[in-house]
Amino acid sequence: MTSRPNPGWLVLMLLLAVLVPSVCLIWFMNQAVRNEKLAVRQVLMEVYRENLVLAQGRLEAWRAQIMRDAETNHRAGIADSVICFDAAGKVVYPVPEYANNADPAALALQAKARDLNKAGKKRETVDLILDSMARDRLAGAVDGRGRMIMPSLELMALELTNAPALLNALQTDLNDYDNAMPAPQRRFLMRRLIELYPKQSSFSTLAAEDLAARYLDTEPKPSREPKLTPSLPGVWQIASGNGRVLMLFQTETLQARLREAASLRALPSAVSLAIVIPGQAGNYLLAIPAGESFPGWQLALTLKDRDVFKAAANEQIASYVWVGVMTMAVVVILALLGAGLIRRQVAVAQLRNDLLANVTHELKTPLSSMRLLVDTLLQSRPLHEETARQYLQLIAAENIRLSRLIDNFLTFSRIERNKITFDVVKVPAGAIAERAAAAVRERFAADGCQFAMQTAPGLPQVLADADAMVTVLLNLLDNAWKYSGDEKQIILSAGAENGNVVFAVKDNGIGLSPRETKRIFKRFYQVDQRLARTGGGCGLGLSIVQFILTAHHGAIRVESEPGRGSTFIVTLPAAPEVSP
Ligand code: ADP
Repeated sequence: MTSRPNPGWLVLMLLLAVLVPSVCLIWFMNQAVRNEKLAVRQVLMEVYRENLVLAQGRLEAWRAQIMRDAETNHRAGIADSVICFDAAGKVVYPVPEYANNADPAALALQAKARDLNKAGKKRETVDLILDSMARDRLAGAVDGRGRMIMPSLELMALELTNAPALLNALQTDLNDYDNAMPAPQRRFLMRRLIELYPKQSSFSTLAAEDLAARYLDTEPKPSREPKLTPSLPGVWQIASGNGRVLMLFQTETLQARLREAASLRALPSAVSLAIVIPGQAGNYLLAIPAGESFPGWQLALTLKDRDVFKAAANEQIASYVWVGVMTMAVVVILALLGAGLIRRQVAVAQLRNDLLANVTHELKTPLSSMRLLVDTLLQSRPLHEETARQYLQLIAAENIRLSRLIDNFLTFSRIERNKITFDVVKVPAGAIAERAAAAVRERFAADGCQFAMQTAPGLPQVLADADAMVTVLLNLLDNAWKYSGDEKQIILSAGAENGNVVFAVKDNGIGLSPRETKRIFKRFYQVDQRLARTGGGCGLGLSIVQFILTAHHGAIRVESEPGRGSTFIVTLPAAPEVSP
């Protein structure tokens, strides 16, 4: 017994064969993508950290540089303000007021000028001051607290009159840090000049002077630490290595300086560097201490481009996805090929089973009827000649039926095994029709059957295997006989049309619906199996007919109506005429 493979199981197995590897693949891909993202993030973070370490080094180099500058004489612009000490730690800059032996001549001059001024003698006061300016003798004269007398007099004159020479002289004195003018006097004079002559007066050092003064007012013991530490609110301090210079920075200036010092030319474009003040919180990608000399300060990176990690991982991920998709495509294709193969195997197995069942059944029917006839003949004593002849004719008819069946089986088997060959030669189309008609004529001459043959004159020749073409027509004639009622009218015609030879087998039988006409050429298809069995057939005839015609570049079509009969029309290309 042959067991048929269960299609449900096959489908399930195929689904599993596709689904299991696909699910595994998707899982692996997912893991790989996640790992890739992590790995990329790790690599980038490492690169960023290295950048921060470089920035740290640069900050330290900056600190060393300002230390050197502070200890040598390149102090201009080094900080927002500086305070200098002597070896004993006494503040030497900004210059404090100091007790001094006053210059009596200078004091006398100052007193005289004040008196004149009080008396309202403007002209005389100014002349006196201008005159004394001319005499260099008083240039460095100071009063008892170290304050320079000449600049004070110059201011007095400028309060009385606008004399460019005086203004120029006073500004020069105020900007000259080689003179001994105490810082409080210098700042006072600067402020007054700005008040009196705002357009002509600006002093770049005033802010620094103010800051230093403010610092010294609040910090009686200045820091000497070579580290960046907080001092006044919003002000930071750092002393030079030898402790002789203390630099003061406003927070904004300091941050700008540090940023400039630490900034890296090759910093990745997705991030930006931030200098973080001690205690300042922020959302940073990465932060490291700015260094030992910058306690509490941090160097940090902020993310400018949020998708940088994703973008970096995407390329690798895309290749993973490609490989995954390709693999899945291969799996699906292989599964489809496998499914096709299995389906073919199933179909072959089914065909074999059908064939076996059909053959045995179809062979049994004529054989048993022949056996019945022969038995009846053998038992009838004496043998009546008329009856014997009648029985023998029936046996002959069964024999023909059997032969046709076997012929069809053999042809089908050869077709299936690709073993069929056609001996194609030029044959007159009329001869083919004639041979087919001759084969059935005797059978079709029975009672209740009218058979006619109509052949057009001068039919062309066809390139064909004559036996195969006779088989075609015999199958059609046989069907016409089988599927017609008791009053059969069968016509075999042959004609020519548009370079083709047209054979037609027309009957007045049961006919076919349009749906059935489309199916009857399939192997083993029978519209009504019961009817076909009584007539002896197994649904192979028309499939053989179509195979033969296709091999001969011909075609077959059906015109039929249920209950009104059918016409099977065969077209074959006529053989080309050979010109003599
Ligand atoms: P079978 O051996 O069953 O006749 P065929 O392949 O020759 O097999 O025909 C297939 C089916 O087509 C038949 O079973 C029958 O139902 C239908 N058929 C064929 N010829 C005719 C016809 N002339 N009239 C009506 N039905 C037909």
